[in-house]
Amino acid sequence: MKSRRSLLAAAALAAQAQQPPRPTFTIRPASVPFSEQKLAQSIPIPKQSGRGVVLMRDQRLKVITPRGKQIGDLFAFVQNSNDEFIAPAYTITRNRNIYLKTGRPMFSNYGTPLLIMEEDTVGRHDLLYPACSGSQRPGVPAKIPNCRDNMQAALRAINFPVPEHPEIVHPHNLFQNTPIANLDGQLDFLEPLAKPGDYVVIRALENVVVVVTACSSPSIVNGNDPKELLMEVYA
Ligand SMILES: [Zn+2]
Repeated sequence: MKSRRSLLAAAALAAQAQQPPRPTFTIRPASVPFSEQKLAQSIPIPKQSGRGVVLMRDQRLKVITPRGKQIGDLFAFVQNSNDEFIAPAYTITRNRNIYLKTGRPMFSNYGTPLLIMEEDTVGRHDLLYPACSGSQRPGVPAKIPNCRDNMQAALRAINFPVPEHPEIVHPHNLFQNTPIANLDGQLDFLEPLAKPGDYVVIRALENVVVVVTACSSPSIVNGNDPKELLMEVYA
């Protein structure tokens, strides 16, 4: 027969299990509201390519899909270390949520919040897919344009050292519409919900190097037509 003490302990555990998860992080508020910042740089991202830029703490990045239905793979590295970068598995588990939404930080592979989404006119993004890669193996050039190669090219173009293992640097996939379809965990594979001119605004929580690639895939996830994106930096 169970003691009264062990019954009470079991009841306490059960009550704890029913509580919503406690946040395991705090996010420093912005030093400047977005409305008081000015456009500092406008960087077009041609279709099937990527571009990189440095974002200082509290600067904002606006990623716009001018023609809609276009994925932007988002990568971000700590400014002085290509060993620390935003990692979707950490974003999912720290937020205890499978989707990237306004108010949810993006965490690094060391558990540090590096970015936070502040505005979003779409509401559907993906954290599960790796960068498209043309299925190349190390040392084997891909036959088609792809986000993994384009991320590396964008880093080289701004003289940021490419990580030793770029295949483990996974993107946060802006505007990608591949939600969980059912309780069995199957994934849908759909056109982005983004309409022409839709955008997200992201604030830097640390000094970071950001890369956005306009996803090269000619499949339905880019509306069967890979298109350009536009990146704006506000300071
Ligand atoms: Zn891609």
